[in-house]
Amino acid sequence: LVFSSSATVYGDSEHWELNESMPVGVPSNNYGYTKLTVEQLLAKTASADSRWSFANLRYFNPIGAHRSGLIGEDPKGIPNNLLPFVSQVGIGKLPYLSIFGNDYPTPDGTAIRDYIHVMDLAAAHLKALQYIQHSRGNHVWNIGTGNGSSVLEIVVQFEHVTGKNIPFKHMPRREGDIAACWANASKADKELGWTAQYNLQDMISDLWNWQTKNPNGYDV
Ligand code: UDP
Repeated sequence: LVFSSSATVYGDSEHWELNESMPVGVPSNNYGYTKLTVEQLLAKTASADSRWSFANLRYFNPIGAHRSGLIGEDPKGIPNNLLPFVSQVGIGKLPYLSIFGNDYPTPDGTAIRDYIHVMDLAAAHLKALQYIQHSRGNHVWNIGTGNGSSVLEIVVQFEHVTGKNIPFKHMPRREGDIAACWANASKADKELGWTAQYNLQDMISDLWNWQTKNPNGYDV
């Protein structure tokens, strides 16, 4: 069984680079609570019954789209996540981006995340499936690039890749957000032979391809 877990299980860690041997934290919302609870159920199941093989993939921040522009993210209503929001500002559906917090203890004051291309994430699933066919028990892997980008860096990179202007306003921090996190993804490299292949420019360019080919998402 491959479980789509999340870096949110680390909670508000004192470390910004996260590895799998670090303790899990207190979830700041129900989403994180469900991820942590399922991870704990799988760990208990594996220790009670050695026939099981589990891969808990702790996703960092998946973005982008299939390179064809045929498959992508189509959030309903106003997007919650950063890249879908920026993308809708880029295409003119939303007037400006609200940047939640510019007083974090990061170099530019905005929060840092490890954004990963969805196709890299897909590749990690295949590697994990192969691995657990030969190795039983409960396994945990971070799935991220190992690089962190701030919200402002995302805006600048988005403007650079798409040639669009992204107006933004600084707003207060969003409740439950942490300052910064990125993956130490060396365990997945060592055990699965998986590392991220796509950089931020690829992720944004594939997202933009999807967005411009499907300005209304899957609704025609
Ligand atoms: N963010 C923002 N404006 C938005 C959406 C998100 O400034 O409209 C910030 C958010 O505060 C966080 C980062 O962008 O620091 C990534 O947010 P997202 O919701 O995409 O992922 P999360 O890491 O919260 O799961």
